[in-house]
Amino acid sequence: MDIFGETDPEKMPAWFFSNANFVEYGTAEKADWKAQKFTVAPRHWYIDAEYECPVCKRLFIWAAQEQKLWFEEYKIYVDAEPQSCRECRNVHKESQTLRKEYDEIISDAENGDRQKRVRVVEIIELLKKYVAPIPEGMIRKQEWFEKSLREP
Ligand SMILES: [Zn+2]
Repeated sequence: MDIFGETDPEKMPAWFFSNANFVEYGTAEKADWKAQKFTVAPRHWYIDAEYECPVCKRLFIWAAQEQKLWFEEYKIYVDAEPQSCRECRNVHKESQTLRKEYDEIISDAENGDRQKRVRVVEIIELLKKYVAPIPEGMIRKQEWFEKSLREP
């Protein structure tokens, strides 16, 4: 009896690759399921799978090797699947970092710290590349700071 695809990767529960366009079973590599975090079903195999990124619409491969890292090294819960491609994930991370910095310096900038006003203007400019649309309040703040920085 094959429980959760233990002996046959094609019998793994479908939810492990629920968002994939295509799963290349030929690439299946045996997993060390004892190293995984799971409640009922572990992943017995790591398998290259193709996804379409919902953010940029490009196709990307979630590789067996990457799955091994996620589930055995990073101890991500085994039901997880990538929500977007690696580039979009990095962009998301970068924009979170910028948002955090913005929140940390915005009140100093509002209180007249010129250096921080310069940085806030830069941050908003960078965020425009990542986040669409930028909140209206941020755009107004950028215009306000830019205007104030032109004054001596
Ligand atoms: Zn993407």
